[in-house]
Formats: sequence, C-alpha cells, structure tokens
Amino acid sequence: MSTSANIDILVIGAGTAGLPCAMEAASAGASVLVVEKGDDIGGTLWYSGGQMSAAATRRQRAMGIDDSVEEHYRDIVRMAGEPVDKSLVRRAAELAPQTIDWLEDLGFPFDPSCPALAPEHEYYGAPRTYWGPEAGISILKTLRPHWDKMVADGGIGFELRSRVVELEVDANRVCGAVIEDQTGHQSRVRAGATVLATGGYAASPQMVAEFTPQAPALVTHAAETSTGDAISLTRKFGTKIRNTDVYVPSLGGFRAETDAGRIRPWRDGWGLVGSARMRAPREIYVDSHGRRFINEDEPSNDRRDFAIRQLDRELFWLIFDSTALVAGECLIMGWENADITSAADAGEFCWRAETIPELAAVAGLDADNLAKTVTDYNTAVERGVDPLGRHAPDYPLQTPPFYAFRFQGCAGLSWAGLTVDDRLRVLDADNRPIDGLYAAGEVLGMASLSGSATVGGMSVTPALSFGRWLGQQLAAESSGA
Ligand SMILES: Cc1cc2nc3c(=O)[nH]c(=O)nc-3n(C[C@H](O)[C@H](O)[C@H](O)COP(=O)(O)OP(=O)(O)OC[C@H]3O[C@@H](n4cnc5c(N)ncnc54)[C@H](O)[C@@H]3O)c2cc1C
Repeated sequence: MSTSANIDILVIGAGTAGLPCAMEAASAGASVLVVEKGDDIGGTLWYSGGQMSAAATRRQRAMGIDDSVEEHYRDIVRMAGEPVDKSLVRRAAELAPQTIDWLEDLGFPFDPSCPALAPEHEYYGAPRTYWGPEAGISILKTLRPHWDKMVADGGIGFELRSRVVELEVDANRVCGAVIEDQTGHQSRVRAGATVLATGGYAASPQMVAEFTPQAPALVTHAAETSTGDAISLTRKFGTKIRNTDVYVPSLGGFRAETDAGRIRPWRDGWGLVGSARMRAPREIYVDSHGRRFINEDEPSNDRRDFAIRQLDRELFWLIFDSTALVAGECLIMGWENADITSAADAGEFCWRAETIPELAAVAGLDADNLAKTVTDYNTAVERGVDPLGRHAPDYPLQTPPFYAFRFQGCAGLSWAGLTVDDRLRVLDADNRPIDGLYAAGEVLGMASLSGSATVGGMSVTPALSFGRWLGQQLAAESSGA
C-alpha cells in the first residue's frame, strides 16, 4: 500500500454536499483531496428534482417578497414534525440564502417563476422554492465548470472511480483513509479533517432492511451509489444511527413482480402519480381489497403519503376508463398515453379489460369489492357528492376498456442517519465527537432535517449549505485562523 502526502481536508464523495465542500475549502487555501467511487461527479444530482428552499435571498428581495430566515425555520419545524433536529434545521435555514445567492453568482439558471410555492410538497408560508430547467442536473451543470477549473489548476486533488474503504485512526483521531482504485490498488492518505459526503443508503436493500425495517420489500429510485458507505465506514466507532423509526415512502413507483428492487427515477418511480395540486384526478385509487381509501383530490401531500403508508405493502391501484385516459394530460407524469396502452399490453403492472370483474381478475383485486367500489363511485359522480370527500367527483367509470395501474410507495431517501453535533462532527457510541470526522448531506438522515414528512428542498439545500459551510470552517481551522 502506498501513502500519499498529507492534506488538510479529505472529502469522501463528489456529490451534492462533497462538491461545494471541496470548492469552498480549496478557495480558502486548504489542500483538498476528493475521492469519488462513481464514474462521474454529481451523485444524486443526476436524479434529484433539485428543488431548493431558502428565505431572505437576493431573488426574493428583487421580487419584493417579504420573508425571513426565522419564518423559514418555523415553517420547516411545523411541517416536519418529530424527530427533526432543530439546531441543524436552524443552521440549514440560516445558511440557505447564502447558498442560493452563491449559486446565482455561479450562473445558476433559475426557472423564471422562482422563488415560488412548489406544489410537489406541502406549501411553505411564502414563495421560497427554487429550481432550474433540468432539475438536479442544473445544479451540477452550474458547479461543473468551476469544479473542473479548480481540479485542472491543482486546487483540488481528485481521484475518480476510487472508493474509500477504511477510515484510519491515530490517537483517537480520524487521520485519513484507505482508498481503493478500480484496479484494486490501495493507498493511504493522511488528512487533518475527513468529511463524509457519501450520500444515503436507500439503494442498499440490506441497509434499508436494517435501518428502515418498516419499509416494505425494497423498491428504490435512489442513485445506485447511495449504498450507505458512511455507515459502513463508521461502524467501528459504534456510531449511533438515529431515527430508525421514521420512514416516508416516495409516492409512488411501479415495477413488475419479477423486477429487482431498483427502478429508474422519474421513469418508473418518484412522484409519478402527481400531486392533486398539479393535476385534477380523473381516476380513483383502490387498495389491495379493491376499496377506495382516500379522496383522490386531497390537496395535502402529507395526508396522501400517510394514507399510502397504511396500506398493505403500500400497494395501490389507479383505476380509470378509456374516457379518463385521453381526457387531459397523461395520468402518469412524464408518460404518453401510448406508454400506458403499451404497459397494459405487457400486463406486468398495468392491466386492461372490457369489464370491471375481468379487470379485477387480471389485476389481482377482489372482484366483488371492486365492482361495488365502482358502482358507489359512479353514484357519487351522479349526485356530485363523494362520501370520501372528493371535491369534484367526476369521470364515472363507464367506458371500456377499463385500466388498473399498480403503484407502490418506494424508497428514494434515507430517513435514518449518522448523529452529529452542531459543528457537524460525527458522534461516537457515547455521543462524543470523533476527532477529525465530519458529515454533510443525506448521511445525516432525512428525518434530522425533514422530520417525518417530506419538506420541500430540505435535502438538496442543506447538503449544499452544510458542504459549503464545512469547507469554509475546516479551511479556516487548518490555516489556524
Ligand atoms: C429522484 C430523487 C428526487 C429528489 N428530489 C429532491 C428535491 O427536489 N429536493 C430535495 O431537497 N431533495 C431531493 N432529493 C434528495 C436529494 O437529492 C439528496 O438527498 C441529495 O442530493 C444527496 O446529496 P449527498 O451529497 O448526500 O449525496 P450524493 O449527491 O448522492 O453524493 C454522494 C457521493 O458520494 C459518493 N460515494 C459514496 N460512497 C463513497 C465511497 N466509499 N468512496 C468514494 N465516494 C463515495 C457517491 O458515488 C456520490 O457521488 C431527491 C432524491 C431523489 C432520489
């Protein structure tokens, strides 16, 4: 094993948190090495919706929006609920405007409507959500030229397709790591500070089973690289993984029974049913017993998520007829109607039949229950009053062929995570900071920053902000400032 020179800061992972961490640290004069196991930089930014939230930004002021960090903080805590870590949330809210202004300085192509109220999640009390035209990729494209220049100039040392396989400890302090390249060659690097920016664990069936046991059999749309490496690397310290009791599925994904648990983000999973704020439903939802369980135009995304969590294996079926299929924008976000009819031809997660009893048979639903559900719903449409409270019961199920499209909640995010203090130092089994070891990004666990709900922007923004902040702090410490 070879040993490379001493550096100030080792950043493990060139994703959402790792890139800004390294860029800020190097800009402040620290010697930085970034190790990335993937084939490219970016991590989850390749898939992420890239929605960010921040108050008191330049863009808000320019648009005359009166907002404050304090209101943002209070909104997050209110929407997140337990077990949110209030001190982390406060820091995230404080740093968020600087992050958005920084992205603006780097040339981020904001959607012209931003800051806006984003319908994908519960509404904030003020328009404070930002995104670019290519979602997470817009963030990556903004950072990449600056990153490339810093790597080319030697300001940032970078090892691609290399994985940190072990943290090295000397006199109770993390002092570097063992890096393995794609040929299997191992080298050792010594670092004054090591930052875990390795992302979540939602692509690892073993870790999801271990830390989020309440999730049904894994259907994940997380990045392939989200394999919980920070958890593996810190096991030797007995580090506590907190918030293992929280799991909020993404609504929703689908797959054939025969598929492995990984599904393609956006194509097969994540938000494809859409929020009722984005599209008025033309279908009904039924559970595995063939019964409706929610008013499909429920505006609260949290209530929809909660309803899905109560279902057997989080499975639910969209039931619609041929009129509803073609009456407006495609029922599955990002799809064409022709995709639905092809999926029905294949009959793996979407089925078509000429009658409701036949549909129940092919989709594996109870025929009597489904028939009664459809009759009751059609009566509700006729009367204009829905016992489940759908505000606009319309599109009676009457024009064959009928369709059933099976969805299920899926894991895209890691809800449990490492425990850190307010300086983002990783804590050991006795809740003492491990010297020299820091963490930022999804390794902290979604529940720390988003509680038991999906609060808009509360993963990408803190990942960027905490990455930047750590880069600045650690660079200052290494220079003795
Ligand atoms: C489909 C989807 C949509 C989303 N939409 C939003 C949204 O709109 N808003 C929001 O706030 N959040 C969203 N999220 C969540 C958010 O995007 C992520 O939580 C965040 O990007 C994670 O950032 P990170 O830096 O922690 O990890 P990543 O960006 O995944 O970076 C981790 C990096 O570490 C590397 N790595 C891992 N282990 C090692 C190792 N041992 N050695 C070297 N390198 C390693 C990985 O290869 C990866 O490049 C979404 C997530 C998904 C999956």
